[in-house]
Amino acid sequence: MKRTIFSSILIFFLVACSTVPLTGRRQLSLIPNSQVLPMSYDQFTEVKNTNKIVTTGSDVAMVKRCGTKIQRAVEQYFKERNLSDQLNGFEWEYILIDENTVNAWAMPGGKVAFYTGILPVTKDETGLAVVMGHEIAHIVANHGRERISQTLAAQTGLSLAAIAAGQGGASLTGDMILQAAGAGTNIGLLKFSRTHEKEADQLGLYFMALAGYNPQEAVSFWERMTALSQGQAPPEFLSTHPSYGTRISELKKNMPKALEYYNKAK
Ligand SMILES: [Zn+2]
Repeated sequence: MKRTIFSSILIFFLVACSTVPLTGRRQLSLIPNSQVLPMSYDQFTEVKNTNKIVTTGSDVAMVKRCGTKIQRAVEQYFKERNLSDQLNGFEWEYILIDENTVNAWAMPGGKVAFYTGILPVTKDETGLAVVMGHEIAHIVANHGRERISQTLAAQTGLSLAAIAAGQGGASLTGDMILQAAGAGTNIGLLKFSRTHEKEADQLGLYFMALAGYNPQEAVSFWERMTALSQGQAPPEFLSTHPSYGTRISELKKNMPKALEYYNKAK
């Protein structure tokens, strides 16, 4: 009997945790991507149906080109390390929403959205790659799934073992997906944690470099972003992210490795 309990606890931990690629951080993972991704895709379709999407012109072409370039570099990186199965079922897509909001966000499984309002700040394709790398990092590090798992664990008030065993009616809703993605402007949305943002900054820097974008441009981008927030409420994209000073010192810490990737990619 004792032995059975012990092995089910062990199995639970094997199922409930996964490891973030590249950083090696262990994360809570109560539900598989096979469950998360279809719901994410449904929500993304809804976003597309209820917002004005830019379909022609050089801006949306740049968003798609930059996204695809970083995606391919990431896929190659994963392939070389035998990690390709971690990207199974992903359906990458990059959209530009016609709205004057300084923001961008990502949903599980490869869905990335930019608002036209962030383009004057990103300025050019390399600036865009800073944000794109960050959003793609949220995706491949499964931050949305981790957020959903944390929500499930908190909302049910049950022991994690009970959730893993499927007891207590813990269920996934479309709202949780949106909340976990940090999309929309409704109040009460879950934000990514500081840990997630720091990790997305680090991985994003590596990813843009792997795709051949100069990672040093990330510093100027964050300078422009911070200048925007002087004397007024900070843009959403900033308010949910670490402070400028913290961000720059972290970027500098991660820059040597990013430059290694960049020099190899050039
Ligand atoms: Zn973020």
